[in-house]
Amino acid sequence: CSEVAPHHQKDSVKVAVNIRPLITPELLLGCTDCVTITPGEPQVQIGPHVFTYDHVYGSKSSPSSLIFEQCVHPLIDSLFCGYNATVLAYGQTGSGKTYTMGTNYTGEANCGGIIPQVMETIFKKVDALKDGTEYLIRVSFIEIFKEEVFDLLDASHAALRLDSGYVAKAAAPSRVPIQIRETVNGGITLAGVTEADVKTKEEMASLLARGSSSRATGSTNMNSQSSRSHAIFTISLEQKKVFSASDKLACNDYNILSSKFHLVDLAGSERAKRTGADGLRLKEGIHINRGLLALGNVISALGDEKKRKEGAFVPYRDSKLTRLLQDSLGGNSRTVMIACISPADSNAEETINTLKYANRAR
Ligand code: ADP
Ligand code: MG
Repeated sequence: CSEVAPHHQKDSVKVAVNIRPLITPELLLGCTDCVTITPGEPQVQIGPHVFTYDHVYGSKSSPSSLIFEQCVHPLIDSLFCGYNATVLAYGQTGSGKTYTMGTNYTGEANCGGIIPQVMETIFKKVDALKDGTEYLIRVSFIEIFKEEVFDLLDASHAALRLDSGYVAKAAAPSRVPIQIRETVNGGITLAGVTEADVKTKEEMASLLARGSSSRATGSTNMNSQSSRSHAIFTISLEQKKVFSASDKLACNDYNILSSKFHLVDLAGSERAKRTGADGLRLKEGIHINRGLLALGNVISALGDEKKRKEGAFVPYRDSKLTRLLQDSLGGNSRTVMIACISPADSNAEETINTLKYANRAR
């Protein structure tokens, strides 16, 4: 393992901004690009505002693989050393979260999303490391919708959806929420969640596709396919070192190292008022904001070195999202937040909100 000592705490949270290009609907509306990157700096400017991050990616200057290589690949190395890791995509609906994460990956090559590249890299690593270690890889895929956790890989739920043929069924009461549990060691588990054993990246990709199709979606003024849930695709890695009988280190026959990697496609960050819908929709908006609000508070508490030294309280318990990620944010784990933004002038207000949120996380 290349990472002998835990990385420095100050490196535990990194923030990147990903600016997508103007898309056809924006061009048709005559929108112009209002976001500029300071040349040679990880800095963005919008109107009078200037923000600096760990990395800034813009469509024109960087290939999509760069974000994976610089931000995500190091987390996979940590995962194999036993550290938990989390990548979060934040931003308003339509800003490119799903595109950037690759959450809707259906198997086509070179789609450039993060999750497909993570899958590829993990299996390549396992193949290359023929070192007497057994690797057990499992995936789970859940979503948090209205402060409840649902299993996207639950087979009985998938059958129910096929019968009805109607996606809105995803939010029906027949879907039983699952409970978050804390182990004696402070680890977080989900009671009864589907954890599928996978041996190949194809198997993993088909689970990703299956879960993606089960996500709760609904229409808002912003985007008819917008998603108001947080989707969390988790890859668990168990490394079983098999010792020979002569190995003096072996107190048991084997030694198990467990770690997990959460890949999170967050709900749209736009304010509830912009969904402008009925009371129900607004309530969903408020719940979603609770998760994003708590996440902002947790990440900003983790990023504040002074506060951390004083042993400041980190408010993990304020939402399901932060509770679920509790053992994978802070401590020895590594986190990357990718703030996704549209460059269109029509989105300037939400873009500034996103840039401010991401700025707090540093
Ligand atoms: P979100 O998940 O944040 O709602 P999406 O990922 O669905 O946003 O992206 C919105 C639209 O923008 C989609 O049509 C998507 O294909 C397009 N898009 C997003 N990022 C890029 C990019 N980097 N390059 C080209 N198109 C993009
Ligand atoms: Mg999306």
